[in-house]
Amino acid sequence: MNKDIATPLRTRAILEKYKFNFKKSLGQNFLIDTNILDKIVDYAGVTESSGVIEIGPGIGALTEQLAKRAEKVVSFEIDQRLLPVLKDTLSLYDNIDIIHSDVLKANVKEVIRDSFEPGQDLMVVANLPYYVTTPILMKLLEEKLPIRGIVVMIQKEVADRISAKPGTKAYGSLSIAAQYYATAESVLTVPKTVFVPQPNVDSAVLRLTLRDEPPVAVDDEELFFNVVRASFAQRRKTILNNLVHNLDYGDKEILESALKASEIDPRRRGETLSIAEFARISNTLLAQGK
Ligand code: SAM
Repeated sequence: MNKDIATPLRTRAILEKYKFNFKKSLGQNFLIDTNILDKIVDYAGVTESSGVIEIGPGIGALTEQLAKRAEKVVSFEIDQRLLPVLKDTLSLYDNIDIIHSDVLKANVKEVIRDSFEPGQDLMVVANLPYYVTTPILMKLLEEKLPIRGIVVMIQKEVADRISAKPGTKAYGSLSIAAQYYATAESVLTVPKTVFVPQPNVDSAVLRLTLRDEPPVAVDDEELFFNVVRASFAQRRKTILNNLVHNLDYGDKEILESALKASEIDPRRRGETLSIAEFARISNTLLAQGK
């Protein structure tokens, strides 16, 4: 008998038992396909010695598959109504901790320290709530957590932007922000039919593998990210125009000479520049001073 949570039948029975109403505002789209869940766990490379941090367990569909294959799972859930449900659906597993918290407000570093062994293989694995995909991913990356990587189901459009290469339409400040910390691959496109309720947009599984070091030497990270954001403020403008209007770092002459010293044609558009080229510009600006 198949006891998995993530079957259409079992999911419906659980939802009915608890008279659960989905909250759209919390991005509640639950997975009802164990094949997709298996693939997510495969892509994460989770083994019996791995620790896993999950965000948003819902009724436990992915949590269960993770608990079967990992040493331990710690899962953050914001919706209090799901706590008694999870206690019931995951009662067979003794290697799961559910933390009732908004992950954006949680001290994830401290949770990791308290929950896992030092040096343990750690992955973040989740079917993310789509309304907060980017803030959650940026928080996890910027906090420089001791994790190997992140495998998440997100909107396909966001997965495409995060993994985009220079010169493509999807490439922008989000691609650079993520790729500064990790290598990014969109590994699987997922149809809407594997969720209840079905989301309005297509989904994809994104795999981020954290880098030991950034791919380029950046002397001032804040300035680097300001240059990147300014360069994409208006995609159809040249990089010089965007920097002049959106970066508070010297006048047109200073900016133009920094671009030339970095061997960047000021008439290029931001979307054609690699991470290394953005690093050159921000390092030159810093060296030049305002
Ligand atoms: N993992 C389950 C699955 O795959 O079926 C549910 C995924 S559902 C897309 C997202 C889950 O994240 C929901 O359970 C929702 O309540 C929870 N959630 C939403 N915002 C959150 C936040 N800021 N912190 C923690 N959990 C959140």
